[in-house]
Amino acid sequence: MSTVMRPPADRRLTLLVTVAHPDDESFGCGSVIAAAAEAGWRVVVCCASRGEAGEDASGLYAEPGLLGVAREAELHAAASALGVEVVEVLGFADSGWSGPAPAHSLVEDLPTLVDEVSRMIQAHRPDVVVTMDPSGSDGHRDHAAATATMPRLVPRPRRRSSRPSTGLLAYTTGSCHAH
Ligand SMILES: [Zn+2]
Repeated sequence: MSTVMRPPADRRLTLLVTVAHPDDESFGCGSVIAAAAEAGWRVVVCCASRGEAGEDASGLYAEPGLLGVAREAELHAAASALGVEVVEVLGFADSGWSGPAPAHSLVEDLPTLVDEVSRMIQAHRPDVVVTMDPSGSDGHRDHAAATATMPRLVPRPRRRSSRPSTGLLAYTTGSCHAH
């Protein structure tokens, strides 16, 4: 907890976490979210899709749409447990690992994704934005797409010693989930 800056007394700081699928926020940076919320930050999670193309390890869902509904519910439950105040689900289609990307998926409609994330930044005016690992370490193309929006929207600090302020971009470490 000591690594998260406490907000000034006269203003709450906002952390915006942008991810591709439900569970990316918890696997990637759940501890950061919980620590920020504990320190008094307003935390917003922006999830681009419902993750309907993910692996249904449970075998409970007969079709991808049902898996997406379940994963969105899990996102809200996880966000509540972590102290997130606002969850925004953008409603893009999950591109899946490979093959032709569906219409209005993160991969197929990257310009709209950039616009939507820009709208989130304007609406929530975050002090810090956390998104996914830019190295694409787990190989999921939606994770790479989620990251690809950021350099266009949030400039990096000019110096490593720059104080955290509006526009600071941070990344999660590589996701390690099955999706
Ligand atoms: Zn994911």
